[in-house]
Amino acid sequence: MGILITLGLALLLAFWAAASSGLLWRTRRLSASERATLAKYAISYQRAHAKDKARMERIVATMVHDKEWLGVGLEVADEMKVMIGACAAQLLVGHSDLVLKHFERFVIYPDSYRDRRTGGMRQGEVRPAAGTIVISWDDFVNGYAHTRDAHNVGLHELAHALWFENSIVNGEDHFLPPVLLQRWNTLAEAEMGRIRAQAPSFFRDYAGTNAAEFFAVAVEYFFEQPLEFREALPEHYAVLCSLLKQDPAATLVLN
Ligand SMILES: [Zn+2]
Repeated sequence: MGILITLGLALLLAFWAAASSGLLWRTRRLSASERATLAKYAISYQRAHAKDKARMERIVATMVHDKEWLGVGLEVADEMKVMIGACAAQLLVGHSDLVLKHFERFVIYPDSYRDRRTGGMRQGEVRPAAGTIVISWDDFVNGYAHTRDAHNVGLHELAHALWFENSIVNGEDHFLPPVLLQRWNTLAEAEMGRIRAQAPSFFRDYAGTNAAEFFAVAVEYFFEQPLEFREALPEHYAVLCSLLKQDPAATLVLN
């Protein structure tokens, strides 16, 4: 009996250690139908190399199975979770084990929704204090329906989440090297200055709002217009490649 209790305790401890190290949720698997949805609809997954595909599947599985999904006026279908997970995978694939741990919850609206504080309409937002990412499904789909217009609310909000995640101490923080961040901030300041002075910029005006919006908008251009971005702002592009550990322009040329 004593041996059984000891064995049980050892197993419990091993489980706890695995769970707290992230080992358990890193080994999550997609179901056959989830993988089929991913393969059928996610362009970034279709274009990825085999090694990246495996990493992307793990990210999607974590998003689908380990995050909480709340629909406001709609039921969040499994396909919706897979596609938003695929968007996260597109952004995070370069980092070997990043899953935006702090953000435990996705809240999905069917369409753009009214912001209670400002009264304005929103397509999505990130609420770091609540560990929540909010997305309008209609706008999310539109973002991927127009793959070359550099408007993608999914990538935009997830980029905000990534930016926050880097500075929230939770064992998954400070994955963006400070030297690179400093370089990025200097380059961002310069380009925001141009936008605010109404000088021609590669980015839309909204990027001039503040450093967080600049990063989120830059990520949209990074994935939807990588060749043009690299041509127009090679230094910004190179630093973003290093921060996200991937190069969509190179992937595009190879495909
Ligand atoms: Zn934003």
